[in-house]
Amino acid sequence: MKVLILFAHPEPRSLNGSLRDVAVRELEAEGHEVRVSDLYAEGWTSEVGRADFPLLPPDGRLAPAAASKQAFESGTLTADVKAEIEKLLWADVLILQFPLWWFSMPAILKGWVDRVFAYGFAYGVGEHSDKRWGDRYGEGRLAGKRAMLIVTAGGWQEHYSARGINGPIDDLLFPINHGILYYPGYDVLPPFVVYKADKLDEAGFQATAERLRERMRTLATTPPIPYRRQNGGDYLIPSMRLRAGLGHSGATGFALHVEQVEAHSPNGETSSLRSTAEGCAATA
Ligand code: FAD
Repeated sequence: MKVLILFAHPEPRSLNGSLRDVAVRELEAEGHEVRVSDLYAEGWTSEVGRADFPLLPPDGRLAPAAASKQAFESGTLTADVKAEIEKLLWADVLILQFPLWWFSMPAILKGWVDRVFAYGFAYGVGEHSDKRWGDRYGEGRLAGKRAMLIVTAGGWQEHYSARGINGPIDDLLFPINHGILYYPGYDVLPPFVVYKADKLDEAGFQATAERLRERMRTLATTPPIPYRRQNGGDYLIPSMRLRAGLGHSGATGFALHVEQVEAHSPNGETSSLRSTAEGCAATA
């Protein structure tokens, strides 16, 4: 497979830098082709601005979505954005790697999404009518490809558990996994999360590295998070509300948009599963 790692940490000698190297080595050992976009090293411009849209008259009002559409359709996106789009089309798998900063991705990575996910490429794709609300959420130009997050967090795994004060990690990452990756069509794999990252010692690093290698070895076979497809019949169009009767009674919010997977145990009992982030925590 062809794998693109989008790396967003300012320091190559960081934990993130070491984990990136672990991932690249394992992927290459498995015979995959790997490319890395190192956003800080490459001096990525994260702000959307007039310079993105050469066709816009100097005194023209900048409407970012409309300008993005025009630039994509006319082939006038800037060279740096075009290069990233070409990498996305090349890759079978996209990995976003970053430290959790203020419960989200670093600004430089968000800015990569803002600029590279152009109108007509990542959104505004397909028929938009009262019958069909575009090709998105499981469909779109990046359908058939896989994506996953590698995230390091200072907080403990318990802090990000269902009753943890930070909120469940699946919920915090939902806007990225569902809103950014699933939206243009990626099958999104459960994230690889390193908790208590700041306290990681040598033993913790070795254990984390081994778990990451395992995730890299199973990149092609790991089942994706079973998000509901927009055009699969679960949603009413055009309200885009989940049909009555779907989802667990009492479920609200993000959890509604993940199909419940029934796990069958050898004794015949069934239980309902939500996708869970694979976690590893420092032992210190
Ligand atoms: P580093 O600081 O590079 O390293 C962490 C540890 O790993 C160190 O002990 C280091 O010695 C060890 N290590 C690194 N490489 C190796 C190696 N090769 N071998 C052995 N050991 C190694 N956390 C949250 O949970 N939620 C938040 O919302 C949040 N917001 C933040 C906002 C900001 C602006 C900042 C700066 C931090 C925030 N944090 C938050 C904490 C942040 O997520 C962690 O600091 C970060 O994930 C650690 O990753 P790093 O690559 O920077 O680690």
